[in-house]
Amino acid sequence: MKKIPSFEKDHDALQPGLHARMDNNQITTFDLRFKKPNAGDYISPAALHTVEHLLATTLRNLGGDDIVYFGPMGCRTGFYLLTLRKNYNEVKELIKEGILAALALDKIPGATRKECGNYLDHDLAGAKEELRQYLALLSR
Ligand SMILES: [Zn+2]
Repeated sequence: MKKIPSFEKDHDALQPGLHARMDNNQITTFDLRFKKPNAGDYISPAALHTVEHLLATTLRNLGGDDIVYFGPMGCRTGFYLLTLRKNYNEVKELIKEGILAALALDKIPGATRKECGNYLDHDLAGAKEELRQYLALLSR
């Protein structure tokens, strides 16, 4: 098996922040790194799940068809966002707007039994705390 690009990175050298990788002429993969890898501090599974619901909703509402995918990293240190036709600064602004919109929500979108595969495993307060910290990081 060929090693995939995500595993080529030295994760011990990776800092929290927003990193981009152009996959082909159309899709860019953004690495929204909330936590320093292998440093003992991870997003809780419930907060990770809720951030997924919040940002998937706000980013798609704000970014429309240019948002291909948003989802959590299994290692719980961040998220992947795949976009079309957008440059780094546009995506960074979009993420900041998306976080502000998420922080304004008082209900988790798509969190009923019908809409979600593990609807009881959510943490809105924890998710908002992670989002506030990441927004502060992006605004530095
Ligand atoms: Zn869910």
